[in-house]
Amino acid sequence: MKLNEIKLEVDYFDFDKNLYQELKPSPLTNPKLVSYNKQACNLIGLDYESCETKEFLDFINGSKLQEGSKPYSMVYAGHQFGYFVPKLGDGRAINLGSVNDWHLQTKGSGLTRYSRQGDGRAVLRSSIREYIMSEAMHSLGIATTRALAIIDSDTFAHREWEEESCSIVLRMSPSWIRIGTFEFFANTKDSKKNLEQLANYVIKQSYPSLQNEKNKYEKMFYSLVDRTALLMAQWQTYGFMHGVMNTDNFSMAGLTIDYGPYAFMDYFEKNCICNHTDVEGRYSYNNQPYVARWNLIVLAHTLKEICDVDKLLEYMKTFLPQHENVYLELMNKRLGLDATKSGNSNLDLILELIGSLESAKIDYNLFFYKLTYLESFDDLSTILNHAVFTEPLRNWFDSYKKVCEDQNSTIKQRNKIMKKVNPKYIIKNYMLQDAITLAHEGDYSLVNDLLVIAQNPFAEHTKYEKYATSTPVNLSNLQLSCSS
Ligand code: AMP
Ligand code: MG
Repeated sequence: MKLNEIKLEVDYFDFDKNLYQELKPSPLTNPKLVSYNKQACNLIGLDYESCETKEFLDFINGSKLQEGSKPYSMVYAGHQFGYFVPKLGDGRAINLGSVNDWHLQTKGSGLTRYSRQGDGRAVLRSSIREYIMSEAMHSLGIATTRALAIIDSDTFAHREWEEESCSIVLRMSPSWIRIGTFEFFANTKDSKKNLEQLANYVIKQSYPSLQNEKNKYEKMFYSLVDRTALLMAQWQTYGFMHGVMNTDNFSMAGLTIDYGPYAFMDYFEKNCICNHTDVEGRYSYNNQPYVARWNLIVLAHTLKEICDVDKLLEYMKTFLPQHENVYLELMNKRLGLDATKSGNSNLDLILELIGSLESAKIDYNLFFYKLTYLESFDDLSTILNHAVFTEPLRNWFDSYKKVCEDQNSTIKQRNKIMKKVNPKYIIKNYMLQDAITLAHEGDYSLVNDLLVIAQNPFAEHTKYEKYATSTPVNLSNLQLSCSS
């Protein structure tokens, strides 16, 4: 379809009008296309040629609305770093409507009723990070929001110590409802009615098979718990750290949303903290499943008017065991092993690995990639050459070799399993920084190249061999600020 044939639908105006704001985007000056994403075009049936036009720029910029589009921002609340903030909301995001069940939202489109002290803008740096990473996550099979396009402009915003150019990224999601949305609705005058309406909306969007079920609100919660256990296991398996797991950044559909100071860890560090403001490490790598559990328990209490909270809390007991099961299953795959062939899913081997990786100071994802192509246990140099300390890994390899022998697993079998889950490329923060530095000079080529790598992480990208090895030491496991 051409852009002008795409018709958007808006389904949010049945809610009480105090729960959203209808408004027009505030366009940026002199918008420039940085990149558009063909995979996302396919999802909404948009042809690629349309993305090269001035109309497309105007569409992302919000200066021209699509047919059917009635832009609005949503209110929500949330627990930020453990403290309840009663009123947040889309402070810089504007929803345009949906097509093919993808809800389109521009981030950085100006002030809304929910902007608080913010300026309603998003700088180029943070938009590039969101645009690339949501695609990288998808390619690893991790549920996430997506991104259609990104524009740069001659509008500037002040961040920390300098003026930065403003940008808009068009994000798409099957749902933008967060735990924080329920937290706001639970504190309204007509809370029961509003919560029921919101739960029905979430069920229709994200759990349609529950629509005619008895106790559907409780079942919605259980399904979200299951999805979140999987999501956390995937994050942990690939060394992803979200950085700001506040309840307002926590999806009701079990997706990764709101990409801020996230990171794929470089060398393995169990207590790694990627967010500079997270002094206590609330959102450290290792804490993520526990914080997810905390967030879900907040949700359980928020649903008390429409669910039996005791039942929800009872179900929460399954969360960590579910998480552990999936984590072990995925980690076994990353090692080329079959979890079902061992009584405890090779738990000991995996715990030993985690300790050894940390002691060895080795790039986390590179380790698995190199393991995938290890030719013989007699020559570990292709892996150990990347470690600062080799002894801990040598010891672990003795255990690994034994498990492989016990399971009668051959190198060929393991390679077949590992090839599917151990990518050559992982998008790390220093790569994004390279793309951002160039983009600030008006060169968007690396943004586009990183998009290709993000979407094809298992493929060869000969021009970018330098990104298929350990992160330079001085750029490893750096913390990022929340400013965006
Ligand atoms: P975040 O930590 O990015 O999820 O943002 C937390 C809240 O602050 C959300 O309600 C955002 O909409 C809002 N916010 C963040 N940055 C801005 C900004 N530059 N202008 C307005 N609101 C913002
Ligand atoms: Mg947010």
